[in-house]
Amino acid sequence: MDGQANPFESLKEQVDDAVSFLDAPSGVVTRLKNPERVLETNLTFELDDGSLETVRAYRSQFNGDRGPYKGGIRYHPGVTRDEVKALSGWMAYKCAVVDIPYGGGKGGIAIDPATYSESELERLTRAFATELRPLIGEDRDIPAPDVNTGQREMNWIKDTYETLENTTAPGVITGKALDSGGSEGRVEATGRSVALAAREAFDWLDRDIEGATVAVQGYGNAGSIAAALLDDLGADVVAASDSSGGIRVPDGLDPRAAKDHKAETGSISGYGDAEPITNEELLTLDVDLLVPAALENAIDGDLAADVRADVIVEAANGPLTPTADDVLAEKDVYVVPDILANAGGVTVSYFEWVQNRQRFHWTEERVNEELERVITEAFDGIVDTFDATEAPNLRTAAYVVAISRIVDASEQAGNWP
Ligand code: GLU
Repeated sequence: MDGQANPFESLKEQVDDAVSFLDAPSGVVTRLKNPERVLETNLTFELDDGSLETVRAYRSQFNGDRGPYKGGIRYHPGVTRDEVKALSGWMAYKCAVVDIPYGGGKGGIAIDPATYSESELERLTRAFATELRPLIGEDRDIPAPDVNTGQREMNWIKDTYETLENTTAPGVITGKALDSGGSEGRVEATGRSVALAAREAFDWLDRDIEGATVAVQGYGNAGSIAAALLDDLGADVVAASDSSGGIRVPDGLDPRAAKDHKAETGSISGYGDAEPITNEELLTLDVDLLVPAALENAIDGDLAADVRADVIVEAANGPLTPTADDVLAEKDVYVVPDILANAGGVTVSYFEWVQNRQRFHWTEERVNEELERVITEAFDGIVDTFDATEAPNLRTAAYVVAISRIVDASEQAGNWP
């Protein structure tokens, strides 16, 4: 059972798999597997009853060869130093795959945000922003939302940074609310790229997305929006789940109504007269497309042996362990990797940052058009590399593309001091 695989070990294995297709110097390979620096800090903040609490927080800056570090901040009890390091690496490779001018970063606080009030979360977030201030900046490191964070937290971080710096710097963070300098289409962007990647994959495999059956594991921002947009493409979402369990509707559910049900009741369970299923049952359903949209390690080697989907499009970061990848490649299950499939989030973050720097607002139509271009071009590039290198799977092909770009930038910069 490798369901508890350390994500940082998984990242290093993924890089090693790709490096065998490249001639990167060995001194550089070590650099490609480790962050440049990691901040580990203990944040003390006041609870509503006046008492103090101290929690652990991290920010990992993985690689800055192609531009400022970029990546989200998550609030989750499972946050560890190694998880944040892995997630920062995946951001570096993701930004390189879609060819946007960023390196990779990631942050997290090891808490369950559901156990705190809004004012407690605000004090904690502002404490973290104060700690992050020397490390971040519009041209240095640009955080964004991730698991359990969103516009509210981004607005607090922006305000704290701007107040302390005595300036305006909307581009210091992305995923902000529209009135605070956010972009049209940012909330939907991760789910949109998942749907676009699925469409491209089905097209490449000469299969019809229309009428394809889909199971979605995780019904947060990425999963619920991917489900709705896949439904718009004509696919039938026949099962969905969240941390409280799953539902199955063989004729297809209405993803937007299921999202409303979750917003009202706190979970997807109990939607309509759907049959209840477990997360494990959902992951092994006989469907055309499986979309893991929750956390790392959802599918390990053992579970992969029972997977019956033909195509997997990763909306979460790191949902498959390296052993699962090997088992699925053996079974000819095509996996569209996270670093391409969910890259819509950071791509529209990039558009938000460009708009912030230009003090100019794009229409939603323009955002979505540019996003579609970026994702389809990146998909084509990965498939070309997959064919040219005979890499074992699309993930390794994506890493080959990404690592080549990072190594080129690093070589052009030279090694100094
Ligand atoms: N947290 C998202 C991700 O994992 C978005 C990061 C960003 O927009 O910088 O890709």
